[in-house]
Amino acid sequence: MERIYLDNAATTRLAPEVLDKMMPWLTAQYGNASSTHYEGRAARFAIESARKSVAAHIGCSPASVFFTSGGTEGNNIAIRSFVHNYRISNIITSRTEHPSVLSTVRDLQHRGQVKLSYVGLREDGSVDLCDLDRLLEAEHGRTLVTLMFANNEIGALLNLHTAGEICRRHKAFFHSDCVQGVGHYAFNLRETPVDVITASGHKFHGPKGSGILYVREGMELRGAFTGGGQERSVRPGTENVSGIVGFAEALSIAFRNMAEDSYRINEIKFRMVTALRKLGVDFNGNVTNGLYTVLSAAFPKNEMTEGLLLQLDIAGIAASGGSACSAGKGGSHVMEAIGAVGSENIRFSFSKYNTVEEIERVEAILQKCLVSELKMVF
Ligand code: PLP
Repeated sequence: MERIYLDNAATTRLAPEVLDKMMPWLTAQYGNASSTHYEGRAARFAIESARKSVAAHIGCSPASVFFTSGGTEGNNIAIRSFVHNYRISNIITSRTEHPSVLSTVRDLQHRGQVKLSYVGLREDGSVDLCDLDRLLEAEHGRTLVTLMFANNEIGALLNLHTAGEICRRHKAFFHSDCVQGVGHYAFNLRETPVDVITASGHKFHGPKGSGILYVREGMELRGAFTGGGQERSVRPGTENVSGIVGFAEALSIAFRNMAEDSYRINEIKFRMVTALRKLGVDFNGNVTNGLYTVLSAAFPKNEMTEGLLLQLDIAGIAASGGSACSAGKGGSHVMEAIGAVGSENIRFSFSKYNTVEEIERVEAILQKCLVSELKMVF
């Protein structure tokens, strides 16, 4: 029996068309993009074409796009460079950010470089923007606000425009971790009041170890790394040509099919919602207005649900207890922040490769796990 992969917020399958585009840069065309000979120039041309393509899709100029190794690196560069270059003394964030943001801002706080404040959350785990306004009103000194566009565990969404306008009004800088959003939503960054965003290729069928930073024109983001001058010194180091080409191709495919794919994924998600509701399962976050690729199910804690994730795995279903990054680090900081600690939380996350038939199979398996007395049939 084929396994069913419902952990697409952790990572997605590399699209075969993306691999095809990457292959020449992993094999015959191995020149270093900084070399001046033919092989080097070919690699440089591939990178600059990828930059133009990415910029056209997210609505910005190519000069605003910097290639990185993914979301973690992008978030580190964005936050650390801002603090360094703009002498930031306050950071406002939320307790539900990804560890690549939370650990970074806490590190800066522990070094005494910044004062850290956390914005309040609403019941569904989304950011209370009135509280953001209040916090900014009370701040003196240069402030960086860092808030994610879409939460990777519960799917809570942030209105980038409203949050950005609030930041602008208070002259605060605004960074958004858009790792779970880019490739799934249309972005037009020219029209969005945000200074820097991060994205990661492996969240939308691109290669792992690829990502971008969008930096609003006129902003200075150097200083997190030292090295050669690659990526205009924002991210020095020999460019990952195949990763960059793969990122651009994956984004291009995502934009081409976004309406269709998001419709189908939504349909699959709501099949799962219906199936789980029938079994008396509740949800964390905002099911109807949250990130359409993520569903955080709150199973009641009892002997049937104890070890459910493992049972699902044995039955051929890959889901997750939270984010892959916090695996093995105790409970989820996101669930703790929203007070969802009394339930057995399982994240199901979907992609265009999932099918309705798969969800029907999951439903049948869950029914056996939760309803049948023969709990260990697998
Ligand atoms: N930010 C969010 C919201 C994520 O979900 C992830 C990955 O899980 C990251 C950042 C880190 O991205 P990467 O795996 O590319 O380092």
